Amino acid sequence: MEKLQNFIDGKYCAPANGNYIDNYEPASGMVYCQIPNSDAEDVELAVKAAERAFPIWSKMSIDERSAILVKLSQGIEARMDEFVKAESRDNGKPLSLAAHVDIPRAVSNFHFFATAILHYASESHNMEGVGVNYTLRKPLGIVGCISPWNLPLYLFSWKIAPALAAGNCVIAKPSEVTPYTAYLLGKVAQEAGLPDGVLNILHGEGGAAGDAIVKHPKIKAISFTGGTKTGEYIARTAAPMFKKLSLELGGKNPNIIFADCDWKEMMSTTLRSSFANQGQICLCGSRIFVERSIYDKFKEEFVQKVASTVVAHPDDPTAKLGAVVSKMHLEKVLSYVELAKEEGGTVLTGGERVVLDAPYENGYYLRPTVIEGLAYDCRTNQEEIFGPVVTITPFDSEEEVLMMANSTQYGLSATLWTSNLQRAHRMANEIDAGIVWINAWLVRDLRTPFGGVKASGVGREGGWEALRFFTEPKNVFVKY
Ligand code: NDP
Repeated sequence: MEKLQNFIDGKYCAPANGNYIDNYEPASGMVYCQIPNSDAEDVELAVKAAERAFPIWSKMSIDERSAILVKLSQGIEARMDEFVKAESRDNGKPLSLAAHVDIPRAVSNFHFFATAILHYASESHNMEGVGVNYTLRKPLGIVGCISPWNLPLYLFSWKIAPALAAGNCVIAKPSEVTPYTAYLLGKVAQEAGLPDGVLNILHGEGGAAGDAIVKHPKIKAISFTGGTKTGEYIARTAAPMFKKLSLELGGKNPNIIFADCDWKEMMSTTLRSSFANQGQICLCGSRIFVERSIYDKFKEEFVQKVASTVVAHPDDPTAKLGAVVSKMHLEKVLSYVELAKEEGGTVLTGGERVVLDAPYENGYYLRPTVIEGLAYDCRTNQEEIFGPVVTITPFDSEEEVLMMANSTQYGLSATLWTSNLQRAHRMANEIDAGIVWINAWLVRDLRTPFGGVKASGVGREGGWEALRFFTEPKNVFVKY
């Protein structure tokens, strides 16, 4: 069986303790490779390599650094097929999704920050007759990047690219559930000419390898995307060490549909925003609120379309949904369907496993699920499920839907469907969310601030926000 390796100091290597853990293929439920079960010893080796590399990388001219990162982006593009297949196999997502979203976006992330750094400037503040202040923006040193399993390379690169562009050395850990494309990235880094030790990729469990990254005193910042509970633990651990923290956490996003929306566009986008990537995108709209006058019409058409959505093996070109990421996650999502029933909800479609023909009968397939009849404040409507499950709830007024939309601990994103311009702006201003889409979903401009409020996170990624996070400002005053 294939054994993946860590990527430390520009070389692939086995974990210091020699231990490996199984990696499952969600489409079949079978183990298909093993990954290093790294621990603090591997983190120490990576930190030593990064310490050696930092003076070289941080002092390199921005043009040279940019050119290497452009090559890295091109290297992923050149191996597109290999990355797409690996991502789909590791995560269970349809091949077409990995080909159209995940891997092209990882290419864009590297390209975007490779070129953004060429235009990144710091401020100067003149004090008339007194002197001038200028602000230097220095790389932090060694930083930790920890990412989740839902959009593996996409989110991994979203952190690594700005960290490297800003001149830092990186110790990165992908989710143990989806390590493969991060493993491949090492080869691309070698080919692109990234100096040894600048990017170190460790595999293993969050509680061991991840924890050792968070606790290492020489790692100056942690950029983390994952669950809110893990984020809270990381904050508790890293804050007393005065590390910079960027936390992108869970969501329970409202999708608010008014009667005056563009019906066709709303319907097709709502199908995507509910179930894309098996509902495992932090931005998916899992709570759908529909104005009462169109509730029945919406319910009928939506449920019929969801019921006919194809769930199939990720390689099947007709698949709209593939497998969810793991057995544990499948069981978690199903437990929420049971909870919804206990809370008085009615499952209108879905709510059960899909069993494919052999050899995929043990794959983690779930029928997309729509539930109605739940109170806005019940657990099903308050807790993040992160799977192909949405609830639908009618509303009568703007005030009522705002109250329900803002009632959770989360505040990542929200979607509004209306043709009333005043209402769109008024509500966008009132909704507790870091990102609001009006008559759209998941339209991303990499320059814009990305992140959530409340328990959805602290800080922002994207554009200058990311480059600011990965640099330390130093103000210098010169007297006239
Ligand atoms: P987790 O919080 O379980 O894990 C995220 C990453 O953290 C993984 O690499 C994990 O490793 C690691 N980790 C776990 N425990 C620790 C620890 N004690 N110290 C350091 N690292 C640790 O999240 P999931 O992978 O389950 O991802 C799903 C979550 O991510 C959802 O809540 C989703 O909303 C959120 N998310 C948020 C986004 C945003 O932008 N706000 C975007 C995408 C997802 P391991 O895999 O080995 O456990």
